[in-house]
Amino acid sequence: MDFAGISKTPIQKLSESLNKNKFFIKRDDLFPVSLGGNKARKAVLFFDEVENGQFDCVVTYGSSSSNHCRVVANIARSKGIPCHIISPDETIKTTFNSQIVELLGAVTTKCPVAEVASTIEQKLKELKAQGYKPYFIQGGGHGNIGTQAYVKAYEEIVSYEKETGIHFDYIFHTSGTGTTQAGLVCGQLIHHDVRNIVGISIARKTPYGSDVVRESVKSYLDSIGLANTDHKPIHFVDDYVLDGYGTYNDSVLQTIESVFQYDGIPFDTTYTGKAFWGMKEYIKKNRIANKNILFIHTGGIPLFFDDLRKREKNE
Ligand SMILES: *Cc1c(COP(=O)(O)O)cnc(C)c1O
Repeated sequence: MDFAGISKTPIQKLSESLNKNKFFIKRDDLFPVSLGGNKARKAVLFFDEVENGQFDCVVTYGSSSSNHCRVVANIARSKGIPCHIISPDETIKTTFNSQIVELLGAVTTKCPVAEVASTIEQKLKELKAQGYKPYFIQGGGHGNIGTQAYVKAYEEIVSYEKETGIHFDYIFHTSGTGTTQAGLVCGQLIHHDVRNIVGISIARKTPYGSDVVRESVKSYLDSIGLANTDHKPIHFVDDYVLDGYGTYNDSVLQTIESVFQYDGIPFDTTYTGKAFWGMKEYIKKNRIANKNILFIHTGGIPLFFDDLRKREKNE
């Protein structure tokens, strides 16, 4: 894989209409590496580090439905370096992502969720003992490098605005580990822009979820010499997490169907479909009207197919 020619992901208008707002979507699901998504955008930067540091294998972790693991396994494979994935027993099921990871020849080590950290330690030790120089990537591509990926995405948004004269009053996106949100918030700070960035949490509640975003912002700003710079308050909305990670309701399913029918864009029930539904609820609740609204599609295309398979089996 060669990342040199990768340019901006597209921004397009949606047919969605709610309170006379105009809706746009940034298609990071079309980021052109291993079925795209925010994990691909982040992983490309992690692999720059792998290459620069002459590391010769990678270790990461995630569940069987992890988009992050799919992308890391794919890039590692393309570079001909071994990829080790630590995966908690509790989440083991066959998904399109887990099948792709297997196809790519990544080595998965399963362990109880409480032992993930120690299993990672053990794996790194083993690899070093075998003479490897392993590179460790946080689950979900969390950390300053992941944040950097969304500072870059923010810059793409600003450049779209300059080209078209359209200003986005709001940027909504799915918030999981908070790295995507941290990157957007840092991007906004660097550009001194005024707008609302709203992360719709799909699992974490406040204050933990928002604290992690805040820490990620601080850590990134420290790393670029902007320590102690004030940023806008973090809008981390936890009203739509339902019963936590992976849970959804009929309205989420209807939202996914409707966006696919009218715009041909695939969402899933864990991340983007749930967050897009949450965004619409938030817009209604806060009576947001006549604004330009950008939603970032953070990917997860294989999960769209997992959801189809679930429907077929009536799960
Ligand atoms: C991981 C993931 C997210 C969450 O991104 P964070 O940077 O962890 O907040 C959102 N959408 C999809 C499809 C993901 O795979």
